Amino acid sequence: MNGRPGETITDLRVFDVRFPTSRQLDGSDAMNRDPDYSAAYVIIATDRGDGLEGHGLSFTIGRGNEIVAAAVRALVPLVVGQSLSNFIEAPGAFWKHLTGDSQLRWLGPEKGVIHLATSAVVNALWDLRAKIAGRPLWRLLTDLSPAQIVEMVDWRYLTDALTPEQARASLERLVPTRGAREAELARTGYPAYTTSAGWLGYPDDKIRRLCREGLAAGFSGFKIKVGLDQNDDIRRAALVREEIGPSRGLMLDANQRWDVGQAIAWVTALAPSRPMWIEEPTSPDDVLGHATIARALEPLGIRVATGEHCPNRVMWKQLFQARAMSFCQIDFCRLGGVNEVVAVLLLAAHFGVPVCPHAGGVGLCEYVQHASIFDYIAVSGALTDRSIEYVDHLHEHFLDPCVIRGGSYQLPQAPGASITMKPESLRAHLFPDGPVWASSARST
Ligand SMILES: [Mg+2]
Repeated sequence: MNGRPGETITDLRVFDVRFPTSRQLDGSDAMNRDPDYSAAYVIIATDRGDGLEGHGLSFTIGRGNEIVAAAVRALVPLVVGQSLSNFIEAPGAFWKHLTGDSQLRWLGPEKGVIHLATSAVVNALWDLRAKIAGRPLWRLLTDLSPAQIVEMVDWRYLTDALTPEQARASLERLVPTRGAREAELARTGYPAYTTSAGWLGYPDDKIRRLCREGLAAGFSGFKIKVGLDQNDDIRRAALVREEIGPSRGLMLDANQRWDVGQAIAWVTALAPSRPMWIEEPTSPDDVLGHATIARALEPLGIRVATGEHCPNRVMWKQLFQARAMSFCQIDFCRLGGVNEVVAVLLLAAHFGVPVCPHAGGVGLCEYVQHASIFDYIAVSGALTDRSIEYVDHLHEHFLDPCVIRGGSYQLPQAPGASITMKPESLRAHLFPDGPVWASSARST
């Protein structure tokens, strides 16, 4: 499965790919009114001679995607010319090499545009490794030993909360039962909830129709966007609760809209619809503010979810330590790729917090399914309160799109990280010169 000694990474290209999703209000929320789902898309090549390439992307919502692409180019000298076996044999050490450049780290460290770029590159390397091994990423990861999993993580700044020895011991405990959990997921899939019904800007009859379609498709959880108009939110939350019945999960997502006190007051007014969680109630950086909101809403049975804008394992550590949220919404591209995702999965398991990854956008559903499947089989061993976000957008652009059946993600089977885009989709959506964008420029 490993790269043979002497094999070299010979090329790293990046493409600015954008989808004109704002034309239908798909993805609209209280803070992001007109997103064009976009990807800084990376392709890594080697001199192996078998034509296998590593594909990876970092997700943005349009303008600024070119800046992430530029940051990817800044990482090229750290990757091209490296031996492939350096990454395959010690991915943790390679991650530190990528994030530890003594000049580039000034741009972060480990946050912002440079970290988004890191995720695209790191995930492309993992995609390549999984393709070489002939396995889907989740299986590549679940076949690793506890020692190999622990090696992936940069433990600097984490050991006051969790040590590598503790993590290894908890991983070891689950090794004998990995196979049983994999067999279970092969039968049942991994539970999903849907966000497709609740974008701001959708009329009520469309929300009702999408709820009914979601129920028919087997989803057990439904998320709506809130935070623009309180009375509108009260009405829409009640409407969705009426459609989905008393037992299914209703989630609310404010996308960072409020101050702390305002969040508490606003969400309290929505309590009659019995929401399961309020997501991103305030600034994603406000660890203690999230904790204050969580304490205030606890008596109402409403819990706090956050994390899609949490950039690194150190911020995550603080969110866990402060008990600032009850649902850990890792983002596969916001964190520094697979290695740091694994770090946060280990922390979440240690603190007993369920992981419900952020998905949607373009490619995020494809990516995060691998994280949750790996989490259940090898890291947490738990499914209670866990589900993966699902949005029914843009999957048709991938060669190996995620498969939802009965409201659950089915185990990916193709080698890689499910993120390889169809070449014709890539070409059509290149910004600003691909035909999708060139024709829109002509028509406006
Ligand atoms: Mg969200």
